[in-house]
Amino acid sequence: MELEVINPATGKVIGKVPADDNTNIERKYKAARAAQPAWQRLGLSARLEILKKFRDRVEKDIEEAALVLTRDTGKPISQSRNELKGLLARFDFFLAETETTVATETVLRDGTALVEEIEHEPLGVIANISAWNYPWFVGSNVYVPALLTGNAVLYKPSEFALLSGHLMERYLHEAGVPSGVFALVCGRGDAGAALLEQPIDGIFFTGSVATGRKIAEAAAKKFIKVQLELGGKDPAYITDDVDVKAAAEATADGAMYNTGQSCCSVERIYVHEKIYDQFVQNFVETVKSFRLGDPEQNDTYIGALTRGKAALDFLESQVTDAAKKGAKVLTGGKKAATASGVYLEPAVLTEVNHEMEIMREESFGPVIGIMKVKDDAEAQKLMNDTQYGLTAAVYCRDQNRAREILKGVNAGSAYINCCDRVSPRLPWSGRGASGVGLTLSTYGIETFTRPKAWHIRS
Ligand code: NAD
Repeated sequence: MELEVINPATGKVIGKVPADDNTNIERKYKAARAAQPAWQRLGLSARLEILKKFRDRVEKDIEEAALVLTRDTGKPISQSRNELKGLLARFDFFLAETETTVATETVLRDGTALVEEIEHEPLGVIANISAWNYPWFVGSNVYVPALLTGNAVLYKPSEFALLSGHLMERYLHEAGVPSGVFALVCGRGDAGAALLEQPIDGIFFTGSVATGRKIAEAAAKKFIKVQLELGGKDPAYITDDVDVKAAAEATADGAMYNTGQSCCSVERIYVHEKIYDQFVQNFVETVKSFRLGDPEQNDTYIGALTRGKAALDFLESQVTDAAKKGAKVLTGGKKAATASGVYLEPAVLTEVNHEMEIMREESFGPVIGIMKVKDDAEAQKLMNDTQYGLTAAVYCRDQNRAREILKGVNAGSAYINCCDRVSPRLPWSGRGASGVGLTLSTYGIETFTRPKAWHIRS
């Protein structure tokens, strides 16, 4: 069987990719199991050298990878380049930090008689089931540290980012990662489900809450490590002491960058009543200045909706639900009149409240609700009124005040005067429906290992 690859910007088929059936998936699992011990024995310095070649290959062929990514997902080309450039910094972090993070540690030396050590062993063969919105970022957050620490990886790219997945596999193999150690599993959800049927040692998933739940249920029988990086409904609060225009521009970018299709996009905004009118005016002006159109043009900011009509219908239904309940649509919210592909004019809504889907359910597109609040306490209460807990932002000149508000917000990442940002040096984790486990930082290296406790009496 083959899967068609459709460029969401044009609606045209741009490739065909073989889909793996259950027999193929089992074969790839067995090959990974057979190849993993030699990869582990190869040692960290040899693995570092191979992954460094992969990093350099991405840097050398950044234009090729960016164009493939744009055609796969409808992501504006400048943002594809940004993803790949940002990736290099992540690779550099992993390459620099793995050795010290997983070095065997002596924790007790009792005179001459007793030594205790902690050794970090790889998990074994892991499954990495991934999303399409930042396929290079979310894929390599898992497979780069997993490979460095000696695991074999069965990587299932999203069916909406297949060509990028194939490119990753080609670059990794050409850098020297053996074909059994990193293998692509291609298909839709059923291929992901079939992969979970194999006796893998860990599952690292990035995607929606609904799929995350199915994965957790399937993995529960297995007693293996399960990491779930899921959606968000990330709030930003703008206090009354800010440079209003700068805060409006920054949060408009945080809401609409990557066509709003980021797990840490700003998804709802609360604004102090004293500056509300000016903020809304500046925000709408900024959004109206974003150029929507052909993702292959350098100055395009809003690209196509990667999931096409399904995403459009969902976003339009959120806007309609809000409008029916009294929201005002200040701009956008309708299918853009383009020659081909599926695009949504970025939407800004006010007069919103928490009865509306747009303030409760992840939109994952270029739509945003802005709500007026009377003080910090009301903002904090509303920020916490959610099942999610990925990130939360406060814009405020007074850092102590911002810190106090964010200390009381249940989210894995807290932003002061910034938003929609991920750092390789900091753990990336969600709370509540945003997931369990983490990637990035030294914790996100260690997570691909399990400790062996050595008790050595001489
Ligand atoms: P999705 O859940 O539809 O699909 C994710 C992956 O799961 C795909 O590869 C898909 O084929 C596979 N899959 C689907 N059903 C499956 C099943 N039953 N068993 C096994 N695998 C299955 O999600 P998506 O649309 O690709 O991604 C968007 C979501 O990802 C958003 O909610 C977004 O917030 C989230 N996301 C989170 C992070 C994070 O770091 N927290 C990062 C990026 C994206």
